[in-house]
Amino acid sequence: LVALQIGRYVVERVATAPPVDLVYPRALEARVHADLADVPRMMAVFEEAFGPYPHPAYTVVVTADDLEIPLEAQGMGVFGANHIDGAGSLERLVAHELAHQWFGNSVGVTLWRHIWLNEGFACYAEWLWSERSGGASAHQKALAHHARLASLPQDLLLADPGPDDMFDDRVYKRGALTLQALRLTLGDGPFFTLLREWMSRHRGRSVGTDDFVALAEEIAGPEVRTLLHAWLFETTLPELPAGGAPGEPAPLTAPLSTTPRSPR
Ligand SMILES: [Zn+2]
Repeated sequence: LVALQIGRYVVERVATAPPVDLVYPRALEARVHADLADVPRMMAVFEEAFGPYPHPAYTVVVTADDLEIPLEAQGMGVFGANHIDGAGSLERLVAHELAHQWFGNSVGVTLWRHIWLNEGFACYAEWLWSERSGGASAHQKALAHHARLASLPQDLLLADPGPDDMFDDRVYKRGALTLQALRLTLGDGPFFTLLREWMSRHRGRSVGTDDFVALAEEIAGPEVRTLLHAWLFETTLPELPAGGAPGEPAPLTAPLSTTPRSPR
């Protein structure tokens, strides 16, 4: 939860409510401004979707060094110089790390087997940001990733992937697909009520998968338990629920990016 960054950094405040600071080596200024200009807008989109930002401030650090993967600590996102190329290539990971301030750094997990509650939700936040910022809709993203997961081995149990697979990309994508399946089933109103209630009820505490299933059932009724069981406690990839996807998606115009390792 805690990270210490030491270097010759510029500290630039780009928003005040909540405070957002960009911290970076002067030499990277143009790339930082190009790639991180949307962080305050991401903050607004996620506050609407998930509820108020749960920490006093958010700091985005860009290091002078290249890093293998972006990473977050409580109230801080950390990116390597290689992640901020000035072309917004890793915009989805800027959204991903910010979303962890809700999912992971405010509501944590009691055991690592519940890691989908962090990574699946942060991945879904990437799709939401895409949808809200004029890119592909969350449903388009879901369809593309569902097709890809369907071609991969179905031997991963989302609710308990085991230590070797806890950061397997399937945890991220199947976790996000589970949320899209819920959204299609519940509709936007109850779905986002569920996400905001999840955050407000458990803020500053640690939770497990059973807590999420119980809250979903409380908000959406007992039939949601069957749906969630198939996504979380069985290995076979369920189909996404039919219909309920307003503004039906056009085909993806850009290929999905692939990364050698998943962001944390
Ligand atoms: Zn992550």
